[in-house]
Amino acid sequence: MAGYEQREALVVGAGPVGLTAALALRSYGVPVTVLEAGPDGRQRPGSRAIFTHSNTLTILDRLSPGLGAELSTHGVYWNTQRTFYEGREVYAKTYPDPPAGTYPHFTSLPQVHIEAYLYARAVAAGVEFAWDQEVADVAADAEGVTVTTAAGTAWRAPYVIGADGSRSVVRRQIGARMEGSRDEGWYIVVDVAELEQPALPNERHFHYAHPAVGGRNVLVVPFAGGYRVDLQLVDGDDPEALASPEGVRAWLDAVLPAGYADRTTWVSTYQFLQLVAHDFADPTRRVLLVGEAAHLFAPFGARGLNSGVPDAEAAALAVVLARQATNPAAARSAVETFALARRSAALFNRDAAGEALAHLRPTPERAAEVRAAAERAPQDEAASTWLEKAPYGPRGVPRAETVYRY
Ligand SMILES: Cc1cc2nc3c(=O)[nH]c(=O)nc-3n(C[C@H](O)[C@H](O)[C@H](O)COP(=O)(O)OP(=O)(O)OC[C@H]3O[C@@H](n4cnc5c(N)ncnc54)[C@H](O)[C@@H]3O)c2cc1C
Repeated sequence: MAGYEQREALVVGAGPVGLTAALALRSYGVPVTVLEAGPDGRQRPGSRAIFTHSNTLTILDRLSPGLGAELSTHGVYWNTQRTFYEGREVYAKTYPDPPAGTYPHFTSLPQVHIEAYLYARAVAAGVEFAWDQEVADVAADAEGVTVTTAAGTAWRAPYVIGADGSRSVVRRQIGARMEGSRDEGWYIVVDVAELEQPALPNERHFHYAHPAVGGRNVLVVPFAGGYRVDLQLVDGDDPEALASPEGVRAWLDAVLPAGYADRTTWVSTYQFLQLVAHDFADPTRRVLLVGEAAHLFAPFGARGLNSGVPDAEAAALAVVLARQATNPAAARSAVETFALARRSAALFNRDAAGEALAHLRPTPERAAEVRAAAERAPQDEAASTWLEKAPYGPRGVPRAETVYRY
C-alpha cells in the first residue's frame, strides 16, 4: 500500500513487555518491528520491577534459550524470609539452596537491567527497532492495521501488539476501557544502593506496625546492587512530605542501618490500582493489548512485569496462529482466545491484589485477627505462616499462564 511502511507485525512500545512480545514473534519466525516513542539509547528512570518469578524466567528461556539463566545469574536470590510484628519476629524461614545446576525460583534485579538483557536478545534475534515513533493513531480494518505517529509516519501490518504501558494510546484508540478501582491509601517506594560494607542481610523482611516509624508497615527487599524499601502510609500522612528528600531520609534512617539513607537512588509514590481493560483486543481482532496497556496493578505483589511476560508470549502465539489461519473466523478465534485467557489471568491478579490490599488496609475485624495471630506466632505455625503470606495475596499463577502452548 503506497505511503505506508508495510511490515509483517508491529509491536508498539519497547518496554519489557513489548521487547518480550517481539522476542516471542521472532522465536516463532515472524519478522517484527518495534515502534518506540523514545529515542535510541534512552535511559529509563528508576528500577521499577525487581522481583522476577520463576514462571517469567521459564517463559523467557523458552523464547530465547538461556535468557532466564542469564537474568538469574545477574540478579540476587535470598532463601531467608522474616516477618515482624511491632518489632518482634513472628516468622522466619530459610529454604535450602537450589540444587546444583538449577536456578532459583526467582531473581531480583532492576528493571533497567532486565530490559537491557531483553533488548540485546531482541537485537540478536533480528527484531527491527524504529525509535522516535510516538504512536498517535491506530486504525484497524478487515485486512490489517494502520498505525500513524504524531509526526505523521504511517506503518501498516496485519497484526499489532500494543505494549505502550499505563497511558497506552493504543488502548484508547481501540476503545478499550479500564475497569476496576484505585485504593485511597498511599505507599512510598525507595531504592538504596548497597554500602561498600553491607550492613543489611540478604533477606526479605516484612514489618507489620514497625515501631521505629509510628507503626507503619515496611517491606525491605534485596535486589542486585541494593535494596527496595516500601513504606505504607497511614491515613492523614502527607505522601509528598514523606517522599521529599528530608522526609525519606528521616524514616529511612529509622528503619535501615546507618549509611543507607545517603544512598537513595530512586523514590516514588503509588496507590493500589486494580484496573483491567474490558477487552484485550480491538473489535476487528487485529490489535492485541499486553502488559500495562492492558492492566495496572500495585507494585506490591510483583504482578506487573510477571504477568506482562505471559501476556506477550500469548499475544505472539495468537498472531502466529491468526496468520496461519485458513479463514477469517479461525484468525479471529485465535486472537479471541488470547484476549479471553489473558483477561481472565489479569482478573485473577486483580483479585489477588485485592486480597493483599484487604490485609494491608484491614477492617477493624481483620486487624484484630492479625494482632491475635501475632500474639500466637511464631509458636503457632499456622498463624505464623498466615502472617508471612497474607500481605502478598494468593500465590501461584493463573491457570491460563500454564496451559498456553504452541
Ligand atoms: C515501583 C514499582 C515497582 C514495581 N515492581 C515490580 C516487580 O517487582 N515485579 C513486577 O512484575 N512488576 C513490577 N512493577 C511493574 C512493572 O514495572 C511494569 O508492569 C512494567 O514496566 C510494564 O511494562 P510494559 O512494557 O507493559 O510498560 P512500560 O514499561 O511502561 O513500557 C511502555 C513502553 O512504551 C513506550 N510508549 C509509550 N507510549 C508510546 C506511544 N504512544 N508510542 C510508542 N511508544 C510508546 C514507552 O516509552 C515505553 O518504552 C513495578 C512498578 C513500579 C512502578
